[in-house]
Amino acid sequence: MSIKYDYDVIIIGAGASGLVASVHSRGMGKKVLLIDKSSGKNSSKIINDIQLKSFNKYAEDVEKSRILSPLGITTPQKITTDALLATIREKAEMLSKFSSFTELNKLGIDTHSGKARIQSEHSVKSGTKEYSARKIIIAAGTQPMIPAIPGIESSLVITPSKLFSLTTIPKSICIIGGGTAGLQFASSLSVFGTKVVVLETEEKILRREDNEVVEIAEKIITSRGVQLITNASVEKIEEQNDKCNVHFIQDGKKRKLTVENVLLTTGRIPALDKLGLDESGIAYNNRGISVNKFLQTSVPSIYACGDITGPYYTTNRAETQGTIAAINALTNRNQAIKYSEPFWSLSLIPDLSRFGLTEKEALARYSTFSIRTFKIPYKYSMNSVVRDSSEGFAKIICKNNGTIIGAHIIGENSAELVTRLHQAQQNGTNFSNLSFLDAIFPSYSDVLAKPSLKSYVEQQSNSLVRGIFQAIIPHKKN
Ligand SMILES: Cc1cc2nc3c(=O)[nH]c(=O)nc-3n(C[C@H](O)[C@H](O)[C@H](O)COP(=O)(O)OP(=O)(O)OC[C@H]3O[C@@H](n4cnc5c(N)ncnc54)[C@H](O)[C@@H]3O)c2cc1C
Repeated sequence: MSIKYDYDVIIIGAGASGLVASVHSRGMGKKVLLIDKSSGKNSSKIINDIQLKSFNKYAEDVEKSRILSPLGITTPQKITTDALLATIREKAEMLSKFSSFTELNKLGIDTHSGKARIQSEHSVKSGTKEYSARKIIIAAGTQPMIPAIPGIESSLVITPSKLFSLTTIPKSICIIGGGTAGLQFASSLSVFGTKVVVLETEEKILRREDNEVVEIAEKIITSRGVQLITNASVEKIEEQNDKCNVHFIQDGKKRKLTVENVLLTTGRIPALDKLGLDESGIAYNNRGISVNKFLQTSVPSIYACGDITGPYYTTNRAETQGTIAAINALTNRNQAIKYSEPFWSLSLIPDLSRFGLTEKEALARYSTFSIRTFKIPYKYSMNSVVRDSSEGFAKIICKNNGTIIGAHIIGENSAELVTRLHQAQQNGTNFSNLSFLDAIFPSYSDVLAKPSLKSYVEQQSNSLVRGIFQAIIPHKKN
């Protein structure tokens, strides 16, 4: 006789991955319970993404409007930021309604508001209630990593979500952490006139990224007045006259700066606390819950998806994993996750976007002679001329046979280009074939046209054909 459970599946966490997993599970006709400690309302990092990206978008609009001044159209010198912050909050409010418990209930998904703890391989407790399910999916995400710095508890020290609840943007700010989030805030805040200092403990910002791309990013950010201080370790923060004194050591020297606010972008850690992992025998480490390629944990009836499985924290990845976890938990299809490398975009105005291996990583994995790197500056794109946005360049790394293994692009709309390259790779499309696929003109697709044609030419065995093409394709020697 088969055991009777309350639900087919219980999902813990109504963030990007948990929501997708719930909707897919329900779509398969299953009985679903979604539990979130904060009713799923505005807690999901997806709302943070939307707020940050909207903020970046307005900064980009302001920055782009400056190129109109030669035409006699000028941007106001002073920008009122209260309306801007209010608009961003409204957007977040509006979007969080789409995934509210009320909307999910209309789809037939049961919801429970409260902190969940796994009791056994088939049961979850929240408050006084205990529910059973054939399968459990953990989608509890991450929480901010708060460094142990004396004075960090000051109300002038804020996290990204707190920044969007302010009524005006600070005139000066110290961002602790020169990683992906910190630099996006730095770039946009500087456009709105904030005096920004970024303190980074490492020797360089974005140390895992392609060196040439980072050099351009640094040049762009600092040209807006952002001060990047690397090798810096913060000693303490003191509140004085409604301002913060940030004491730090750089290269062995004690230094101090005074700002209106400190923004913490020191990274995130998986929200493993009090989930009952030890008691239920679920394996994990400091990077998150350990899963196999089917997103199954060490307990066969329990799956995990999204940021809690680490190591790359992105919404796109969390959502893809949410789908796969639901399919694998509730069907016999056993779909494997296909990717293992980063795939994301930063709004640094312009975007810095990436997927796959950097050139350095590719050289460490394959021999020098088996990979090929294509580089092309944005200024060779006709669309960049049309759109007055010729800053940036693209670097695409392929195996000699044209298989794409990495793309690193800094430039306007690079997120779309990198998505195109990632999809080509996932579909097994050779880089050289992109030059023969129809693309809208003018569009930034033309950034990829010349290097992909070059890749095609290099793969031709006929030296006459190679010679003719090489003579007619303008390209940068690299
Ligand atoms: C400021 C910021 C900007 C970002 N910008 C981008 C971006 O532009 N692009 C991008 O791709 N990614 C971005 N990210 C990352 C992205 O938001 C995350 O990768 C994604 O939201 C992760 O989804 P998730 O489902 O794994 O977790 P989350 O969205 O964190 O959801 C986890 C949910 O679990 C709930 N929960 C946790 N523990 C429990 C428990 N014990 N019981 C019940 N509920 C629990 C939480 O309340 C939360 O609702 C950003 C993140 C931040 C913080």
